[in-house]
Amino acid sequence: MELLIGKTLNELREWALKHNLERYRADQIYQWVYKKWEDNPERFTNISKELRKWLKENAKFHTLEKIERVEAPDSVKYLFKTEDGHLVETVLIREKDHWTLCVSTQIGCNVGCKFCATARDGLIRNLTAAEIVDQLLWVQKDIRDLDKPWNKVRNIVFMGMGEPLANFNNLKKAVEIFVDQKGVDISKRRLTISSSGILYQLRKMAQDPLLRNVNLAISLNAPNQKIREEIMPITKTNPFDELWDLLVNYPLPEGRKITLEYVLIKDINDQREHAEELARLIKPHRKRFKVNLIPYNPSPILPYERPPEGRIYEFQKVLLDNAIITTIRWSKGQDVFGACGQLRAKREIPLLNRGEFVKN
Ligand code: SF4
Repeated sequence: MELLIGKTLNELREWALKHNLERYRADQIYQWVYKKWEDNPERFTNISKELRKWLKENAKFHTLEKIERVEAPDSVKYLFKTEDGHLVETVLIREKDHWTLCVSTQIGCNVGCKFCATARDGLIRNLTAAEIVDQLLWVQKDIRDLDKPWNKVRNIVFMGMGEPLANFNNLKKAVEIFVDQKGVDISKRRLTISSSGILYQLRKMAQDPLLRNVNLAISLNAPNQKIREEIMPITKTNPFDELWDLLVNYPLPEGRKITLEYVLIKDINDQREHAEELARLIKPHRKRFKVNLIPYNPSPILPYERPPEGRIYEFQKVLLDNAIITTIRWSKGQDVFGACGQLRAKREIPLLNRGEFVKN
């Protein structure tokens, strides 16, 4: 069985050639999979019966297995299993007038942010491009019969498990598939790569003709080296000042901004003086940044707490008073523990008990 998803249109055409199929057959299959979200070749109605039968016997249209779907008022969390038995989480988030899909790019993560549950297991492996793309295909299949605009994911954020830029080539291929107008056709402006800020990876992204046109979000989480190093040990080898310098000079497409994500953790990075320090940093460059404050979502396996609400609003006010665009993300998906930094790879045991899966 050959896996047909995760292939670009050109790769699918090469595959067709190899099997003595006309080139347009590849285009038809591509449209069924990436536009109509169909995974059963028996329903590819503009294709001959024989070819449908052959596809059924020789081709696969998923690499992930859908294991679980947990619905909450503003989000749906999907749990998938890879062919080698690992678990991957994907969260569909209901925004005011569209869906945003948060996809994973690695199983586990070795960046080691102290506040992140995913980091606890280290990196198990990168996801393949097909595994990244398949998260969208499953979700699309799930929502395709809803009324517009709810029948299609509008925004994709690479913000699930893992550091996307550490899986550069597979990330790039998935982006290529997502933006292809002949298929999935999601605008580059509606894709966001969220990175922990590893310098050489960011430089690579800045030089890549495709990825540098996708939105960039940086998990900053601190106004200085000392605090960032405490909660994000990668700051030792990726110094705060160098990261800041890179962001200030990052080649931004016109009219875009870099999102600075700031997870507010009680008594760690949430004081007024931290907000003032951050404001001083951003103010001279405020046209190229916006800040997204994310009140920390406590996890049963980590020692950190969420600041009181008043402190969160005070932090925001300091930034707003300095004319810095600042939003607070009261994480949707919290109720299914799919909020940022809370996705976790090892669920083998809780899976046996579905009640626990939601809580754990
Ligand atoms: S916050 Fe992101 S980069 Fe940091 S350890 Fe967690 S998954 Fe990795």
